Amino acid sequence: MYEMCVGPEKTSGALVWHVLAKQAAATLCGQQLRERIEASDGDRARHCPDCMASFEKLMVTTPC
Ligand SMILES: [Zn+2]
Repeated sequence: MYEMCVGPEKTSGALVWHVLAKQAAATLCGQQLRERIEASDGDRARHCPDCMASFEKLMVTTPC
């Protein structure tokens, strides 16, 4: 349902892992990623804190 994708962080521009809902145009933190960055570039990237916070909330409210 959700996938991770690498993109620039809103504030710093550093590459971070965002959480992207399938079929959604924007990441959980509201970023619109125009192009997919190859995962190898983001192997050492940290996770986007905004996406992680939203993702945790989603996991709490919609248990599977
Ligand atoms: Zn994000």
